[in-house]
Amino acid sequence: MSWIKLNLFYLHENIFMKVAIGIDIGGTNTKIVIADEKGNVLADQQNPTPSASAEGTATIDDLLVKGLQDFLDSDRAKAIVASTSEVSGIGIGVAGLLDRKKGIVMQSPNIPAINGLPLREKFEKEFSLPVVIENDANIYAYGEKWVGAGKDFDNFVLLTLGTGLGGGLVYKGELYEGPVEIGHMTIVPSGRYCTCGSYGCLESYASGRAILDKAISSLEKGTDSLLAKCCEGNFYKITPEVIFKTALDGDTLSREVFREVGQFLGIGIANLINILSLDAVIIGGGLIGAWDMFITELKREVTKRAFKPLSTNVQIMKSSMTKDAGSVGAAGFLFKKISASPVSLSS
Ligand SMILES: [Zn+2]
Repeated sequence: MSWIKLNLFYLHENIFMKVAIGIDIGGTNTKIVIADEKGNVLADQQNPTPSASAEGTATIDDLLVKGLQDFLDSDRAKAIVASTSEVSGIGIGVAGLLDRKKGIVMQSPNIPAINGLPLREKFEKEFSLPVVIENDANIYAYGEKWVGAGKDFDNFVLLTLGTGLGGGLVYKGELYEGPVEIGHMTIVPSGRYCTCGSYGCLESYASGRAILDKAISSLEKGTDSLLAKCCEGNFYKITPEVIFKTALDGDTLSREVFREVGQFLGIGIANLINILSLDAVIIGGGLIGAWDMFITELKREVTKRAFKPLSTNVQIMKSSMTKDAGSVGAAGFLFKKISASPVSLSS
């Protein structure tokens, strides 16, 4: 039986179920899902995030609207929408600082073309549905609370360890709906320059970018490493995946690079535990594939630095929803907002 038949069978059994559309707009890809109220994904699609400059006069919000329209026009999406009782709305997660009242992205470091565009209004108008927008890491944290590893915890932080380091906070069972710039807590006085304009931020020591910085600067100083033979000798072609591979091969520099990520992340997490009395820290993002390379050092640092009565029972774990976390979280967040405020989502 094909995928689509399986899902239609499922829908036949759930004809009165409401669905929501969740969109996760990332710097590289945009993921769309249709999810039900239990967090089941009924259809999904991933496309490269459109680039405004590549499409003539169209702005990026026009292109994102078109991307969703094309998805909803597909036979698969049409069949699902026709088989359910209601499309409740659209939840959108996007990387950047938001003005939640106006429904705009004020500043997105990875998608600058989206800055200042009336994202929520545009989607509301085009699809005649309620729309919510939220920061992508916050949406991810919400997804973990809704249907993921955070289900049983009231107080937890979600860290996205990818190219950068993002964070979201669930406190007393609720998503904190504001900026949680964990990646920009100062960890080293007068440390490495950070993309935010400051120095010594956690993100500059624990992220994909940090891994590359550390490896490349060590190689340029002449450190002996298997990495020196990679990528035709062009250090700037090295990726975190390459460093992970050489670490698995026992390369000392590559192992040290990941150990340092664990050390600094552990310091940052100890600070968070001391401030927020967390039950858990959940770590997602592209670098968790290298979990075994940094987790021992991370836990050692947490044990060393966090206030004992607060840290003893904190669980540090991998994200359980690496594939659809943002988009499913966005759909779930829409359902939550609808049930809390059925009339207006703007306030
Ligand atoms: Zn910073």
